[in-house]
Amino acid sequence: MNAEIITVGTELLLGQIVDTNFAFIAERLAEAGINLYFKTSVGDNEKRMSDTLKLAISRSDAVIITGGLGPTVDDVTRAALVKTLNLRLVLNEQVLKNIEAFFAVRNITMSQNNVSQALVPAGATVIENKNGTAPGLLIPYENKFVIIMPGVPREMKPMLTDIVIPFLKSRFQTEGLIKSRVLKTFGLGESKVDELIGDLFRTSTNPTIALLASSTEVKIRLTAKARNEGEAEELISGVETKIRERLDENIFGVDSETMEKNIGMLMTMQGLTISTAESCTGGLISSKLTDVPGSSGYFIRGVICYSNQSKIDTLDVKRSTLENCGAVSPQVAEEMADGVRKVAGTDLGLGITGIAGPGGGTKQKPVGLVYIALATGNEIISKECRFGGERILIKERAAQTALDMLRRHLLKI
Ligand code: ATP
Ligand code: MG
Repeated sequence: MNAEIITVGTELLLGQIVDTNFAFIAERLAEAGINLYFKTSVGDNEKRMSDTLKLAISRSDAVIITGGLGPTVDDVTRAALVKTLNLRLVLNEQVLKNIEAFFAVRNITMSQNNVSQALVPAGATVIENKNGTAPGLLIPYENKFVIIMPGVPREMKPMLTDIVIPFLKSRFQTEGLIKSRVLKTFGLGESKVDELIGDLFRTSTNPTIALLASSTEVKIRLTAKARNEGEAEELISGVETKIRERLDENIFGVDSETMEKNIGMLMTMQGLTISTAESCTGGLISSKLTDVPGSSGYFIRGVICYSNQSKIDTLDVKRSTLENCGAVSPQVAEEMADGVRKVAGTDLGLGITGIAGPGGGTKQKPVGLVYIALATGNEIISKECRFGGERILIKERAAQTALDMLRRHLLKI
């Protein structure tokens, strides 16, 4: 069976939003072993929507549409669908009740155009929307199916994974599946990763191996085709083991796992606490650390000390160190790390100071120069980094590098 995706919204064509719905649906279809041959984005225009739908239904067994489903006039998906497929609408009492309940719980008066959302094509199955008002619809049409879901990603995602994918799998008896796993590395450039594992991905056809480099990490994506989940897992793990043997602790996470989540796990396992003293990253490190649920168990204090005086007042950094070495120096990073560790009474202290630019750089201390220090009670380790890029990117790279330094330290204990 072949599926096709249509994402609806003028914003998509103006480039104002990125089509993440497409990526999410495409990935789930691949996992389910459902072929996807076409993808179209179309604006909120009934005529063009209708043309797109006609073409899609002529060549695909299942057409999955997201967006333009709301109750407002600019949402044209339902109207186009009803006209193009010549569907008869009936009022669905259950849907009306759900919509009424949605508004009642939030204590908002329901407007009349919300009632129109309860009109559904005869013969269609309603897909409940747990996070919004517009329900999804699964509409049978000449041995094929048209599926419509809201554009809002958090509404669409559970509808797709809970209802639509299982339905398509059972209806079309798919053979085999495609499974991907992403290994995330930090600290090695793309060409270094290529040098270390290039032979594997030049020889492996199942799973295939691809490198994806971004500004702070290099990801390795393994994609296997198999008859079932177990077989796919076996194929992926075989190659994953070989990659891990070579890249070892440079790998910090799998799939959606983040650096800070990994750190959270290590901190919790070892029963350690940490505090941070940030200058150039302006709180980014503590923000990332606290993105992890349960971080209150190990993250005790984050100090943003931007000025020299605040470094002296809050962390006991010596005025003489600031005067002799400068605010951006390994000595100041070390005193910040040790200072915050003592002030907060934690096992570990992380200090960071640098020049994020665009101004403020000199020949000796250029923009992008950052010092990171980690105080452990037994020792204070520090390192010098030179990052490229604009201000925001330098902050991001500096924060990730500091977290990575912490992660590697925790792995060694
Ligand atoms: P609503 O009932 O909220 O109007 P809707 O089904 O009409 O929902 P749209 O109006 O098309 O959906 O889109 C609502 C919002 O959902 C958009 O502003 C955008 O933020 C997000 N969105 C829509 N389509 C996509 C998409 N393909 N990828 C990512 N986000 C999307
Ligand atoms: Mg809308």
